[in-house]
Amino acid sequence: MSGGHPSRPDGARMQQAQIDQLRRVAIPEQSHFVAGRAFAGTDGGRLDVISPIDGQLLTTIADGSAADVDAAVGAARQAFAAWSATAPAERKRVLLRFADLVEQNALELAVLGVRDNGTEIGMAYRAEPLSSAGTIRYYAEAVDKVYGEIAPTGHGTLGLVHREPLGVVGVIVPWNFPLMIGAWKIAPALAAGNTVVVKPPEIASLTLLRLAALASEAGLPDGVLNVITGRGGCAGEALALHMDVDVIAFTGSGAVGRRLLESSARSNLKRVYLELGGKSPNVVFADAPDIRQAAKVSVNGIFRNSGQVCVAGSRLLVQASVYDRFMAEMLEVTARLKVGDPLDLTSDIGAVSSAAQLHKNLDAVALAEREGAVRLTGGEQLHKDSGGTYMAPTVFAEVTPDMTLAREEVFGPVLAVTRFDDEADAVRLANATTYGLAAAVWTGNLSTAHRMVRAIKAGVVHVNTYGGTDITVPLGGFRQSGFGRDKSLHALAEYTDLKTAWIAL
Ligand code: NAD
Repeated sequence: MSGGHPSRPDGARMQQAQIDQLRRVAIPEQSHFVAGRAFAGTDGGRLDVISPIDGQLLTTIADGSAADVDAAVGAARQAFAAWSATAPAERKRVLLRFADLVEQNALELAVLGVRDNGTEIGMAYRAEPLSSAGTIRYYAEAVDKVYGEIAPTGHGTLGLVHREPLGVVGVIVPWNFPLMIGAWKIAPALAAGNTVVVKPPEIASLTLLRLAALASEAGLPDGVLNVITGRGGCAGEALALHMDVDVIAFTGSGAVGRRLLESSARSNLKRVYLELGGKSPNVVFADAPDIRQAAKVSVNGIFRNSGQVCVAGSRLLVQASVYDRFMAEMLEVTARLKVGDPLDLTSDIGAVSSAAQLHKNLDAVALAEREGAVRLTGGEQLHKDSGGTYMAPTVFAEVTPDMTLAREEVFGPVLAVTRFDDEADAVRLANATTYGLAAAVWTGNLSTAHRMVRAIKAGVVHVNTYGGTDITVPLGGFRQSGFGRDKSLHALAEYTDLKTAWIAL
């Protein structure tokens, strides 16, 4: 696995010198973004932004209050009437300009995001600004191609089915890919004619603030996209409880997902879409077409972005007859990974996003050992004297389904390995989880592949790959991985409601 050297959109290579220049740019103190301009907030509270690269203070953000959220929701509500009445072709025009601006500022956005959350730059560049620009463009282009329906009624009546925007959409996202995940919700919501208030993750707010400023520069009317930074328990909760918010579109942990459902029930019964975590099984059969390739891709599937990926293949299930060979290949690839400065193009893996997350990961390692799992590699913090939060890729074998490591998401670079005997055993182990976000199956047998795709309870089952995706396919979970779908035209439907006109002729 290599950390990158991805292409710029114009085909030129990302240069280390450009990155080094951007990483030295001082970041001014940040305000909320409301009604098209910076908004200091009502009570002046601030939060420090610490870079996981070196533990240094990057800047401060506003610690949003309920009053700040109320101001943003007010601006969004006021902007809704005009934006929802804007012709789809005009919304498209503005959003296409917005996508272009995101792409033109891709490297700046990527470096800003990496300084904030520690993702390796190659991955951050592709997954954050570039994919976000693609997402905005996809929904912009789609929105003037969506038709209503004429119902097949009897001749005496005409039944028309319109799709209408819902109103004010609250977007709450986590810190692993705030821009990409944010765009998956913001872009279809805006394209469909809604207005939006975003609550970024408190430890990675900077790129979403910049995104809103770029939207404004592109001509998005004031109040259509607003950002309130701050703590989840305060600004996030105020958004979830607000009586004039129509939808909460959320990605994050199951615990917060449950709270959002409660907040909806306690306020105005707003819709809540939940994209939660996973404990995704990656199943390797002995007849996998290329064991070395399977090992290489599986390593990427768990360790990229230090394992902080919702669809990470964190449970590796390997058929007993190929176990020794596969594990030898996998450990060899793992040993070659370079963990280090995420803004160094030669690093494969960057920093864990925060000291709190690093300690959570290290606690999960200690617990796995106490419960009897066998540590094959990793488990420790790296580069301590940098002041940053780095962790070695960690592999545990002999993990049984009852162990915490098999059941609970770590959201860090920690892999649980279990061996299985036959297909029935593989299905039983794969589904031995309360989650159902993603999975993979490696086999050269087409029938096995199709049977496994049907048998595994997950929103996506990869075959002979891990983690590949595209804006054209829906993403979301089964079971306690949540409900609602990001991406594809299905997501556009999530931000509209059906209105029927019943006309007597
Ligand atoms: P988190 O649930 O702690 O926080 C997510 C967001 O919710 C943050 O913006 C936070 O400020 C906000 N929040 C916290 N408490 C809140 C409250 N009471 N009311 C309203 N908002 C509140 O998650 P995290 O630690 O930022 O991210 C890691 C989690 O996200 C993992 O569990 C991971 O699996 C999940 N995740 C899921 C997906 C997916 O697509 N399914 C993608 C990425 C991450």
